[in-house]
Amino acid sequence: MHNVVMLSLLVLGLMGLCLGLILAIFSRIFAVRIDPRIEEVAGALAGLNCGVCGYAGCNAMAEALVAGKAHARQCTPGGAAAVKKVSQILGREELPAEPRVAVVKCRGGRDEAREKARYRGVEDCVAIEVLDAGAKSCIYGCLGMGSCVGSCPFGAIRMTANRLPEIVEAKCTACGKCAAMCPRNVIALIPRRQRVYLGCVSREKGKKVKQVCTVGCTACGLCALPAITPSGKVVMKNNLPEFPPDWDDFAAAAEKCPSRCFIIRKV
Ligand code: SF4
Ligand code: SF4
Repeated sequence: MHNVVMLSLLVLGLMGLCLGLILAIFSRIFAVRIDPRIEEVAGALAGLNCGVCGYAGCNAMAEALVAGKAHARQCTPGGAAAVKKVSQILGREELPAEPRVAVVKCRGGRDEAREKARYRGVEDCVAIEVLDAGAKSCIYGCLGMGSCVGSCPFGAIRMTANRLPEIVEAKCTACGKCAAMCPRNVIALIPRRQRVYLGCVSREKGKKVKQVCTVGCTACGLCALPAITPSGKVVMKNNLPEFPPDWDDFAAAAEKCPSRCFIIRKV
């Protein structure tokens, strides 16, 4: 009896030893080597795990950067500092992105946009757009429920008393989450150096605009006249003026626009 127990223990011990050896050999053969730069690069990014870069988090982004599949500028919250650090770690020049900021391209708040009805439903812009509900008559402008506020991971949007979103530029990292979620495409990202942008997204013209909003662009075309904009940088397209970020002779257009649609930024 004693011998049987001893023999069993011996056999089990030998089996354990063999299995351990096999596991050790296989773990060596199939070991996944982790590039030590991944941790370093992850530490150089903003560290918010916000997904703005298009990856599942900072570690996934770091892996993509080390593999040469991503650019450091995709980490917009990290900004120029992250781009510089990643360039140093990886020994290659990562180009910084042009600094941008979100702007709200609608001035039709509760006081300016005509209401077609009292709205008492769910306070969510996406739901309102899908259900074709809401209070405002303009089918292009801001719905005013402030869903963009919650979409910003950086607390850079607040609603004004006039039910329009307001961007806190100092907090905005240009991640673009608000622009992506706004069902009316009212929020856009523009270069931080851009001094003027249009505060209207309506595609209607003339009376149709005036009937629904007191500050909408009526597509009168005044701003595109050579006498008003000698540089010729303004062109009318889809009933809205279009202009490049470096438009600088905008003073007369901003002043003469009957709806005061041009919003001048302090840069
Ligand atoms: S900007 Fe867009 S998401 Fe924000 S309140 Fe207006 S419609 Fe809603
Ligand atoms: S969600 Fe919009 S406002 Fe907020 S940081 Fe991103 S771009 Fe700026």
